[in-house]
Amino acid sequence: MVNPYKIKNVFMGKLTHGSDILTELTNFCRKNEIKTGILTAIGAVKNAALGFYNQDEKKYYKHCINQPLEIVSLSGNISIKDEKPMVHSHIVLSDKDGNTVGGHLMSDTIVFASEFWIFELEGERLIRGYDEVTGLPLWEMKKNRS
Ligand code: ZN
Repeated sequence: MVNPYKIKNVFMGKLTHGSDILTELTNFCRKNEIKTGILTAIGAVKNAALGFYNQDEKKYYKHCINQPLEIVSLSGNISIKDEKPMVHSHIVLSDKDGNTVGGHLMSDTIVFASEFWIFELEGERLIRGYDEVTGLPLWEMKKNRS
């Protein structure tokens, strides 16, 4: 299932030193009423919290890494959950030796320095609802497109 979109706005900015990445990006989207979008960021974190979804148990496990890391890639999207903009993002991080780790971005990932860009989109709203098969809040899409 796919929806077509057009780019409405592009935002580029930097995140606040010491802030929680997920919270700051979510607040930015809510404040600017960005309801649908694509986001990317690079930079560095002081520490990270990554989620891994256990598909059998249908629950997230949080993995905390308490050391400075580079953000090799943060990639995510913005859609609606519980009538508010929600950021869903994954992140790949690297340590001083270039070893990488990644996962579902969770709260408690703290910014050292980071630049982000968001493409706000216009088109059909993407609304998250509970999906019985996966146990996840997935997009409820109206139309079938091939
Ligand atoms: Zn995820």
